Amino acid sequence: MSDQKFKVFVTRKIPDTGIKLLKQAGFQASVSSFDGVLPRPDLLKKVKGVDAILSLLTDKMDAELMDAAGPQLKIIANYAVGTDNINLDDAAARNITITNTPGVLTEAVAELAFALMMSAARRIPESDQFTRKGKYKGWAPMMMLGSELHHKILGIIGLGRIGSAVAERAFFGFKMKIIYYDVKRNEEFEQKFQAEYRGLPGLLRDADFISIHVPLIPETKHLIGKNELKIMKKTAYLINTSRGPIIDEAALVDALKKKRIAGAGLDVYENEPKLSPGLKDLPSAVLTPHTGSATIETRSAMAELAAKNIIEVLNGRAPLTPVKKP
Ligand code: NAD
Repeated sequence: MSDQKFKVFVTRKIPDTGIKLLKQAGFQASVSSFDGVLPRPDLLKKVKGVDAILSLLTDKMDAELMDAAGPQLKIIANYAVGTDNINLDDAAARNITITNTPGVLTEAVAELAFALMMSAARRIPESDQFTRKGKYKGWAPMMMLGSELHHKILGIIGLGRIGSAVAERAFFGFKMKIIYYDVKRNEEFEQKFQAEYRGLPGLLRDADFISIHVPLIPETKHLIGKNELKIMKKTAYLINTSRGPIIDEAALVDALKKKRIAGAGLDVYENEPKLSPGLKDLPSAVLTPHTGSATIETRSAMAELAAKNIIEVLNGRAPLTPVKKP
């Protein structure tokens, strides 16, 4: 490395583990002091002259941003597994390496998907409000009836790392029957979990719980819309911990209002952080604020992995977890 220190800009405070690694590697790492998503003009100024950007899923990384940084920019390390905030073609055209944080967040997101499934089925937030508001006047045989997961059919849309981890919990913990839809079949998985592959309409028709784990790409935008919701069972629940625009949120609100499905558990929204009109008023929807990977262990591991990717690339080595256009 030359005497000139490599400059790294981290767009928002993340766990110290990652920043420490960058500093130990001899880089000049500066972290945005703004407690929020950096406004675009500030972001464009802050990246000027840096060799690496550690970005968040709330930062749009496109040609304008890359050119504002300058031709020395070598890597954008995204602090997420999804890279829908990054224009991969713009990066490729400028020889900028893109990395993400796969694997280290799988278990945390799978656990949240399960938490949403159970919360929706057993009406946990609604019951919590009911109890706090003093409406609980004593045990009642017909109070807060929900649904069981045990032995039900779980439909996984996108059987990658997170989808498989959700299926594993369902199969071993709840003896659920697993059906899945993906662009590719996984016969080893089918054997291990006695799982069945379905086309999307077949999965929608048969599943009692549906959990979405595909990336947001043009092909998956509004994968679940009015027509797909119509195919689902009236007793079924829809869980989304992937990306909001995969569901047509207005159509989902309408389906929940009309009780065409039993409920939903959502961690992500079509126009985050805004919610579609009516969504927050529906007790059958359980809502979390995009906290799929929000555990102390996982967020630290993500910070370390993003930092290690930057260290590898700035030292002229191959990144650990590069992202290629699908
Ligand atoms: P992955 O790449 O391991 O799995 C994605 C799966 O989707 C793959 O099996 C792939 O074949 C399948 N797929 C791709 N395009 C498809 C299509 N058009 N139709 C059907 N299947 C398709 O990814 P992962 O690590 O499991 O993460 C999945 C997604 O979860 C990420 O892309 C990200 O958007 C989201 N995520 C959300 C949070 C959160 O905080 N809520 C955290 C991490 C990841």
